[in-house]
Amino acid sequence: MRSQIKLGKIFGIRIGLHYSWFLIALLIVFSLSGNFHASYPKWPESLVLLLGIVTALLFFVSLLVHELAHSVIAERNGMPVREITLFALGGVSQLEADAPSAKVEFWMALAGPLTSVLIGLACLGMAEVARAAGITPALAVLVWLGYINISLAVFNMIPGYPLDGGRVLRALVWWRTGDMERATQMSARVGQGVAGIFIVIGIFHFFAGGGLGGLWIAFIGWFLLGAAKESAVEVGLKKSLAGVRVADVMARNCPTVDGHSSVQDFVDHELLRTGRRCFVVVEDGRVAGLVTPHEIKEIDRGTWPVTALDTVMRPLGSLRTLPPDAPLMSALEAMGREDLNQLPVVSNGRLEGVLSRAEILAFLQTRAEF
Ligand SMILES: [Zn+2]
Repeated sequence: MRSQIKLGKIFGIRIGLHYSWFLIALLIVFSLSGNFHASYPKWPESLVLLLGIVTALLFFVSLLVHELAHSVIAERNGMPVREITLFALGGVSQLEADAPSAKVEFWMALAGPLTSVLIGLACLGMAEVARAAGITPALAVLVWLGYINISLAVFNMIPGYPLDGGRVLRALVWWRTGDMERATQMSARVGQGVAGIFIVIGIFHFFAGGGLGGLWIAFIGWFLLGAAKESAVEVGLKKSLAGVRVADVMARNCPTVDGHSSVQDFVDHELLRTGRRCFVVVEDGRVAGLVTPHEIKEIDRGTWPVTALDTVMRPLGSLRTLPPDAPLMSALEAMGREDLNQLPVVSNGRLEGVLSRAEILAFLQTRAEF
């Protein structure tokens, strides 16, 4: 789940929205306006709509605080958080690494729901103040926010991975068995079971006349099923890549090009002719850097004939490199994290080969076939 709209940064963590968030925002505004309209028929139309919008925004803030609670614990324990994305079913924090221990995972997972409970109780407390003061619009909004935040905590504590409760379950199994992979697999399986129950209940509810609410439950189940399966696949991937080194998979015979030649020559005679994606730039007999279509696209076409390749390449010194004996899984994680397509493999200052996504994919395909 990647953000499609960037909102800015809080504590150095990027905050973004997925388009599906607008779906839930609209649903909240409409269903709340309907609720308020039924409960307080004397309120003017405009007040009802305004309250719906304000409540949706405050709900958005509560979700964000829930995710930030996870992120703060993660960052304090050396797990940088890349981004928080809010989407139709809540929020997700993108962590750059797995939790270092079961204890950290436990507290990180629990921090979100605990925060939601606290927000919920605070809202209900403020609702009592509003009731005493006779401010009914504030009362209506606070009561709704109070119950929705507590429901959010309860829903998230369902013990199916990747829900927070599933992470808590994983942490507990991990702590008891000392085996993180087994713990993930087990909680992902429970997650699939929970998702299945959601789908069955949702469909049943729908056909029993429960309307769209039933479909919504089924949709949540369907989403959870996908997420739980994905986690199981990731564990499987880790298992199948265990023991595989970068040197086993990397390409050794990367085409080399002269750093003094022009970009135009390179495009005409190398890039387009061979269709390869990665070239080693050599200058005076030694490796100077890498060049890929990505760097070429950055520069204006008109300057291609007069631009030397070594001015646009990525110099070897600036690149993240890997030793040949690094585990392939850590290379894959680094590529995902930093959004890289290639990593040069260097040993004693000498370029041994280049690892690219294409090689890893081909490797996995071959393994999967047999
Ligand atoms: Zn959470």
